[in-house]
Amino acid sequence: MSVARINTSHATLDSHRRCIETVRDVSGSMGIPVGILADLPGPKYRLGQIPGGGIDIVESQTVFLNGDDTAGASGSVPVHPAGLHRDVRVGDDILVNDGAIRLVATAVSGPAIECTVAIGGFMESRKAVAVPARTSTLPYLTEDTENALEFAINEKVDFIGLSYIRSAEDIRAARSFVDDRSSGTQLIAKIELREGLDNLEEIIEATDGVMVARGDLGVELPLAQVPGAQKLIIRKANEVGKVVITATQMLESMIVSPTPTRAEITDIYNAVVDGSDAIMLSAETSIGKHPVEAVKVMAEAAIEAEKSIDRHALESRWEALEKSIDRAMAYTACWTAADQGSKAIIAFTESGRTAARVSSFRPAAPILALYRDPSAGRRLSLRWGIIPIEVPAFSSIQWMFHEGSRIALETGYANEGDSVILVAGMPIGASGNTNLVRVIVLPEPEPRFERERFNDLLVQE
Ligand code: PEP
Repeated sequence: MSVARINTSHATLDSHRRCIETVRDVSGSMGIPVGILADLPGPKYRLGQIPGGGIDIVESQTVFLNGDDTAGASGSVPVHPAGLHRDVRVGDDILVNDGAIRLVATAVSGPAIECTVAIGGFMESRKAVAVPARTSTLPYLTEDTENALEFAINEKVDFIGLSYIRSAEDIRAARSFVDDRSSGTQLIAKIELREGLDNLEEIIEATDGVMVARGDLGVELPLAQVPGAQKLIIRKANEVGKVVITATQMLESMIVSPTPTRAEITDIYNAVVDGSDAIMLSAETSIGKHPVEAVKVMAEAAIEAEKSIDRHALESRWEALEKSIDRAMAYTACWTAADQGSKAIIAFTESGRTAARVSSFRPAAPILALYRDPSAGRRLSLRWGIIPIEVPAFSSIQWMFHEGSRIALETGYANEGDSVILVAGMPIGASGNTNLVRVIVLPEPEPRFERERFNDLLVQE
């Protein structure tokens, strides 16, 4: 695995804190950078606390939901946060627990929403409540969402998952909250509402990455439309080189079974071949019986799928991307690697952006991302095909070339006489640029003079 996700809609912040601590301890002791993604609740209604944890309801029964988030005298079920009664009209379907329970609103009087049960079941505290025909009028930064954001920032997570994004405006609200308090945290917009899909392009422009959140998307859209929506989201994110995660029910059967279905492995294959940077497990690893097997099965299926990625798509990816010097250099690195049969692309990356640009072209050669700041390494954990390697600061360009060569040989990705491509941003230590590509036939000699080791530093000073 490369990233651990926690969802602040569930469990307590204390338990999430412990979980983050464990991930960091283990990843530190294994020397494998693992990013942390913390999802926010977002403008979403959920059932409030129901005495006894929940109630059984049956078809045709009448139930009352209470839109002001209090349990009413008639035993009505509270909905949190307050406001559902303003976002429901008589005749609307109200889906509870991702559609496992369906209610139909028959009357709305003040905060009381009278419903007839169309599909019954166990109404459990905290389960999600959706009205597919309407968009919630809640502000993006609800009290719960602000608390979760505060938590994510204090814990210095690498990615924040923005649930129930409706428009670029929602992302801007979260971004200004985050930017006032921290830097470098990347925002991942979860596409799970029809409105989010309708505003996809502006959302992708405003965000650092997107998630195809198929669980909620399958509640909001007819299920048959979910695969098309997934392909569209992946394509649009790929076109601008932003991260895209495909999520939910990828190995659902492994929650109970030690082996996956053929259909699940085919789903993973399609998600990878279509262009996902990352694929995600949820219940399989949070409450499933076979979490380790599920990760192994997913990794194995993804590695196999990567063999079928269309490497000739380099040209079409280049055509689709907006032109810039940075992208041209990343493209040149990938094109030259393909042309020369180079064994690796070595990306020297300060912020992570040079390696990310290279990754967006899906080159056949492995991408060794050499970074200095551990947070840059973790930021790359969501990117496709990156092998992250922490290195000390380089004092001169010749020293950097030599070290790149040494690492390519020592990691076994290349042998003496092979060519590798080096790609970097100059001057050394400046972040964000990609403006240098070099082909090296291994090995690159050590700098001969002390002067060459420190040359760039002197120039910069
Ligand atoms: C989803 O709905 O697919 C999703 C990823 O959201 P959640 O955070 O509820 O798992």
